[in-house]
Amino acid sequence: MEIRNVAVVGAGTMGNGIAQVFAVSGYPVVLIDAAQAAVDRATGTIRDSLERMVKKETITAAGRDAAAANVRTSTSLRDAGRSDLVIEAVFESLDVKREVFQALDAACPAGTILASNTSSISITAIAALTGRPTDVVGMHFFNPVPVMKLVEVIRGQSTSDATFELVEALAKKLGKTPVEVHDFPGFVSNRVLMPMINEAVYCLQEGVADRDAIDTVMKLGMAHPMGPLTLADFIGLDVCLHIMNVLQEGLGDDKYRPCPLLKRMVAAGQLGRKTGRGFYEYPPIAKGA
Ligand code: NAD
Repeated sequence: MEIRNVAVVGAGTMGNGIAQVFAVSGYPVVLIDAAQAAVDRATGTIRDSLERMVKKETITAAGRDAAAANVRTSTSLRDAGRSDLVIEAVFESLDVKREVFQALDAACPAGTILASNTSSISITAIAALTGRPTDVVGMHFFNPVPVMKLVEVIRGQSTSDATFELVEALAKKLGKTPVEVHDFPGFVSNRVLMPMINEAVYCLQEGVADRDAIDTVMKLGMAHPMGPLTLADFIGLDVCLHIMNVLQEGLGDDKYRPCPLLKRMVAAGQLGRKTGRGFYEYPPIAKGA
């Protein structure tokens, strides 16, 4: 089997980036979202991003036009029905994903591969919602998708070798570096990253060092491009807390307990960049930015 046509469901932060990467690599993509406003925003984001690539001479003007022509949009999941691969990037909620995967399972013929970009939900649990668990796989891209090279390709309990190998080869065709990961809470990326961020918050809470010192140690001492508290603000403190809860529950080990300061900041609505305040303060985000 060869992947020729792709559908991306969810046109938010990740979905529009995923659709763009496929379109630039020559794949016709249908980008689907329940909200027309999300589809419109995604179209504008892709257009602006392609324009920046032309300016940086990463693609030619003809490449930009070809990529833009590869993207179709829709607000109906039924439009995923003619795709060889569907990548889901809707909200990180099992209830929302259940609704989407059951609808996709009904809309897509046998053999269509269903992939999820989830950061923390079990691929095995998602696969079990469908009648085709061998054809369900995790395809975990990183933000911003057009820039970040990594794709964690996650094998659920029932994912077939054929499905895994097809998606792994496809990630390479997109210019990405796939890595094989098995279905355990947090996969590799969040299993390693989030406890580090959580420990940085404990250091702050316990007064081991102040905010800037903690970030400076990790930037200059460990050559991280940004400190863990800056990164937590960028990801969203609510997302960090959610993933720590998934690790603690899923692995049954209190070494993953979320730091009380992290919980308190989330309770206060100080979620990082998106709310203007987290460990740092941020100017308001301009409308349409
Ligand atoms: P987002 O909130 O930016 O976008 C989600 C989109 O899904 C919205 O546009 C929403 O309208 C749409 N949607 C919701 N329910 C739908 C439905 N039933 N049918 C169709 N569309 C629907 O979210 P995001 O940050 O792009 O995250 C999407 C997925 O990617 C999540 O599973 C998340 O965990 C994962 N992820 C996010 C990041 C990140 O840095 N943001 C990184 C890796 C993985």
